[in-house]
Amino acid sequence: MKIAVLKELADGEKRVSATPETVKKFAGLGATMAVEAGAGASASVSDADFQAAGATTGTRAEVLKDADIILGVQGPSPDSIAGAKQGAWLVAGLNPFGERTRVDEYAKLGLEALAMEFMPRITRAQSMDILSSQSNLAGYKAVLDAAAEYGRAFPMMMTAAGTVSAAKAFVMGVGVAGLQAIATARRLGAQVSATDVRSATKEQILSLGAKPIFVENVAGIEGEGSGGYATEMSEEYQKAQAELVSSHIAKQDIVITTALIPGRPAPRLISDAQVATMKPGSVIVDLAVEQGGNVEGAVAGQVVERHGVKIVGHRNVPSRLPADASALFARNLFNFLSAFWDKEGGGLPKVDDEIGDAIRLTRGGKVVNARLLG
Ligand code: NAD
Repeated sequence: MKIAVLKELADGEKRVSATPETVKKFAGLGATMAVEAGAGASASVSDADFQAAGATTGTRAEVLKDADIILGVQGPSPDSIAGAKQGAWLVAGLNPFGERTRVDEYAKLGLEALAMEFMPRITRAQSMDILSSQSNLAGYKAVLDAAAEYGRAFPMMMTAAGTVSAAKAFVMGVGVAGLQAIATARRLGAQVSATDVRSATKEQILSLGAKPIFVENVAGIEGEGSGGYATEMSEEYQKAQAELVSSHIAKQDIVITTALIPGRPAPRLISDAQVATMKPGSVIVDLAVEQGGNVEGAVAGQVVERHGVKIVGHRNVPSRLPADASALFARNLFNFLSAFWDKEGGGLPKVDDEIGDAIRLTRGGKVVNARLLG
């Protein structure tokens, strides 16, 4: 079993899909590891580190030749992997909705494309979930990015020259990224509040020492929908939420938004008029900016200023912590493949259960995924 690890070629992508740790683990399962030269450079992993772990390094053509499994962080351009073996697996974050035509191309190349972001949210697959591992780091980094743009301190400080008051931080969307943002802002000494449409998050917010801010008179999503995800809210709810946000947001110094709805544009949570009510020097970080944005005026890849408020819209936030993001991503890939490893037969892993159905995009030259066909 030969596993190829590609160097990421997408703009601004600094992560790598394997680390010396996972190279050793795959080798322990009997795999031969071939890493494209320079693949780990932006994540502080040298070719020598990969070689010391037991991998060979070489050009893309060399690593792809006869590879049974191809690993990536993002999906490679189909042209760049045209030399791949028929039936080889391509396992990466393939952005199936955003890169739909690429999926067709992967099918034409005869590859079996597996999209790791379609991993079902079941207990068994938690350790394989790239969305969770990367969102966690994004939530942490969002707070650090906010702190870096904020011209004041987060914690209350009592100094000989007088007292600095604590920053007030508000987290909107309390999934994996939001929970980590709350915890990080608390560690930095901010006074933190948070909101979500899923009432189950109230307890979680309290348990992290933050204050829940919830729409009380209109039903939110009680319990959790399929896979724990949110769905679009009623107009009545959206109106009540906007009123609540308006009164709360004007008092905030830092706002982190993380709200997403699978397969839909991100919900708009903050209008330009609401931004205008915030104090000059306040900072908003929109982690949903690449999915359409939670904040009016946020621009993907930029820090913009509106009404004296900075709106931070960095793209690919996990890649801003490339070493840790790669380490967790690589473990997700290893946890997935090793769970289905064909120890006796030595063939490709056998993933013919609900996990396979969820993540398999192409097989036998065709697009086979229900979410793409439906
Ligand atoms: P997500 O990235 O899809 O969305 C982020 C958050 O935004 C969610 O909490 C969502 O409820 C919230 N949101 C959506 N619309 C909103 C609105 N209009 N206003 C305010 N908030 C809004 O979510 P996620 O981080 O992927 O996590 C969702 C849930 O799934 C969590 O409970 C998480 O623990 C669970 N989860 C389970 C597994 C597993 O079991 N394998 C893996 C990952 C996450």
